[in-house]
Amino acid sequence: MAKDKQFAVIGLGRFGSSVAKTLHQLGYEVLAIDSNEETVQKFADEVTHVAIADTTDANSLKALGIRNFDVVVVAIGEDVQANVLTTLVVKELGVHYIIAKARNELHGKMLEKIGADKIVYPERDMGQRVAHNLVSTNVLDY
Ligand code: ATP
Repeated sequence: MAKDKQFAVIGLGRFGSSVAKTLHQLGYEVLAIDSNEETVQKFADEVTHVAIADTTDANSLKALGIRNFDVVVVAIGEDVQANVLTTLVVKELGVHYIIAKARNELHGKMLEKIGADKIVYPERDMGQRVAHNLVSTNVLDY
């Protein structure tokens, strides 16, 4: 991916923080957003920019210029309502590519209907990867 791509990651739990840090380590510009001030402060040195914001509030996201980002990752976890509302606001503000984390299939369907471009299920996806790795030739050969 072109190195001038700009990413925003919303929600700095285990998943979101890993996405944000890894993109930054790979040399991309990353804005990391969370509503929790302490969480955001921890990330100040790990990404390009940080912001404290409740992302269910369209005005906060507008003020951050969210529509100028090429990819927005919605990684809010437990609070499904905040996750869905944030995805809706980001979509309405015109972001072209949205990746959203879902807790389960119904949640994923909702995100799809809102217009998220890619839905990820971190636990399910990692479980599948581990299973595939376990039966891949490399592992069976040792
Ligand atoms: P993981 O499994 O990735 O650790 P999780 O499911 O535990 O994630 P949470 O801790 O619920 O996820 O949420 C991730 C982050 O999202 C938290 O740091 C939380 O502060 C942030 N968050 C929750 N609601 C909002 C919101 N409305 N606006 C911005 N950030 C939010």
